[in-house]
Amino acid sequence: MKLAFFGAEGKVGRALVPVLEQAGHEVRGIEIGDEPDVRGLDASVDFTAPEAVPGNVRAALEQGVSCVVGTTGWDPQPFDDLARERGLRVFVAPNFSIGAVLMMRFAEQAARYFPRAEIVELHNEAKKDAPSGTAAATARLIGGDPVIHSVRLPGLVAHQEVIFGSEGQLLTIRHDTTARESFADGVLLALEKLDTLPPGITVGLDALL
Ligand code: NAP
Repeated sequence: MKLAFFGAEGKVGRALVPVLEQAGHEVRGIEIGDEPDVRGLDASVDFTAPEAVPGNVRAALEQGVSCVVGTTGWDPQPFDDLARERGLRVFVAPNFSIGAVLMMRFAEQAARYFPRAEIVELHNEAKKDAPSGTAAATARLIGGDPVIHSVRLPGLVAHQEVIFGSEGQLLTIRHDTTARESFADGVLLALEKLDTLPPGITVGLDALL
């Protein structure tokens, strides 16, 4: 596919662009200040910032291009009508790591049999917010208001354990992100499935698995 990549020079962009190119996609990096000319491309990918993403999505949709968005902290809902009118897709996922999505899905399954659980999420000290969005989403899925422990230390990237306990047994479901390349599989999957989605907004990698 011919792709626009908003945020190609960011931390995620620098990791993902080479992987997308290796997978056979042609990538045009678009930086701040560039006139976002995406006409004729097959899709845009966005890993920028919450204040930047609405303008990028609007520009892409107005030029007839569907969007895959990893940027967090914005509300895609206002773009649903525009995307539907144009027969285009906006796919948004707060977590593009397939392993993390499966970890949440397996935890949801285990919670049916183990009523007691606690979550430990571990991230690099640079992450300011706690608990992580993934831990909060996991807690909602498994229910019962589990305690969430947040660890922030150098040496960590992004890790989460869901520990289920009952008399005489423990079940631990753990996912480790060791590099930003982990988001590539989810982005590639989203690009592959983009045209099969209904026009408008779709949220979450779970919808594609
Ligand atoms: P980052 O290192 O700050 O990179 C963002 C990049 O986007 C920077 O190069 C920035 O340029 C550029 N940018 C900002 N506004 C732009 C615009 N209007 N047009 C084009 N480029 C623009 O951040 P990051 O760590 O890569 O993360 C980016 C986003 O992805 C964040 O929202 C983060 O939460 C999210 N994220 C999502 C997932 C997921 O799985 N969904 C995973 C990781 C991160 P300047 O440096 O010049 O400002």
